[in-house]
Amino acid sequence: MGRLSYEQLNMIKEKLEVKQLWSFSKASTYTQCTWLFYLKYIEKIRVKGDNCYTWWGTVSHDLIQGLYDGEHTYSEMIDKFEKKVVEFNLLGDPKLKFPSENEFKNYVDNLRHYFTNVRQIPYKVINERPVLAVFEGDERYVFQGYVDSEYLDPTTGKFVIVDYKTSSISGFTGKKLLEKARQLMIYATGISTFGREVNGVKRTFSLEDIVIRYDMMKYLNITYLQKNGTPKTTKAERRAWVGKIASPLRKDLEDVPKEMEKIEKEIRKLERKHNAKVRTEEERVVLRKEIEELEDLHGNMAQYLFDPFEINDMIEEAIATNSLAKMPQFVQEKYSLSDCYIDIELTEEILEEFKVELIDTLNTITRKSAEKNKQEAFTRGHIENGESYYCVNLCDMKDHCEFYADYKAHQGMFLTNNNAPSEEELLAMLGL
Ligand code: SF4
Repeated sequence: MGRLSYEQLNMIKEKLEVKQLWSFSKASTYTQCTWLFYLKYIEKIRVKGDNCYTWWGTVSHDLIQGLYDGEHTYSEMIDKFEKKVVEFNLLGDPKLKFPSENEFKNYVDNLRHYFTNVRQIPYKVINERPVLAVFEGDERYVFQGYVDSEYLDPTTGKFVIVDYKTSSISGFTGKKLLEKARQLMIYATGISTFGREVNGVKRTFSLEDIVIRYDMMKYLNITYLQKNGTPKTTKAERRAWVGKIASPLRKDLEDVPKEMEKIEKEIRKLERKHNAKVRTEEERVVLRKEIEELEDLHGNMAQYLFDPFEINDMIEEAIATNSLAKMPQFVQEKYSLSDCYIDIELTEEILEEFKVELIDTLNTITRKSAEKNKQEAFTRGHIENGESYYCVNLCDMKDHCEFYADYKAHQGMFLTNNNAPSEEELLAMLGL
């Protein structure tokens, strides 16, 4: 769906009696850094251009959404992706540089696997549909945003909203996940308030009927049955998922003799039963069939008896090719892959807590924005090392930020100091 026009946005403001519409990114900018908020929304500094992550984020969104919008077929999707890789390499824009060549390669390999293997959602998917949510605080706050993808799952009756993520999965658990999910919580609040049109019919959805979900594009789930019979699911980077299961794979191959011994034991037991005098002819037929099946299985497994060197080679090859294609059939069948979705469990309690926090943030921003000395109101402390990753790699305002300039100067000093001669060298220089 297209973006709302200026006139449509004004109409929403009028109808809901507010002077401004909020976006999630505006509120979260304040939470990220008060000074960043000041530069972006008070000073209104505009920075053109992307960084490498926003560039690839847009490409990835467009490609998967284009599939649902009918802009390309599934197989054309990966071709378009490869063209984007070429385009990116030709751009040579220093602003789009990844922190390292290796990071770029891994990033692209993960996405390449996604666009080759992702399972297409089998229902009608709508992309970029506008959503509104209203919160009452010092004043009325109306949020307006767009849902990446949404659909009604007819098998569960749930309304699913999907957010595509090309970022790392770290932080997508526990309390941090709830922090990350704020945008989707706003959308879920809006949908539960205003309802949603599905196939031309306006429907209402309670919070329990709404699933908020991240599609972690660079990852997948590997599910397999453990020795104790319980299934295990583990998440792995797509480009190296086989490496993630190297230990269980090794065990599968090393345990073949043990498995064969177990089968032999079972066959002996059944033979004894079969030969017992009390057995009827019908029972013997059934037991003979079971024995023959086990003998077949045993014979089949014999081909999987490998020596330790062969096992090493097989595992190394599987890791290098990131594929189980050359592994024995029983190994291939043991592991199943699925797309890595992270669903956030929404409860009234979680949502209430979030709303209180959000309204508090919006009230603070509103009060600070009304202050005479806004610079002072939105100022911040020095950039600490622990938070510098965002400033260095992600902040598009860093070239306008005095705190960043200070940080760089400090780092420069630190480096200079590092190059300074040691105490011993100094004494030697002075001939002491
Ligand atoms: S560089 Fe860091 S301190 Fe400066 S505006 Fe950006 S996030 Fe804030």
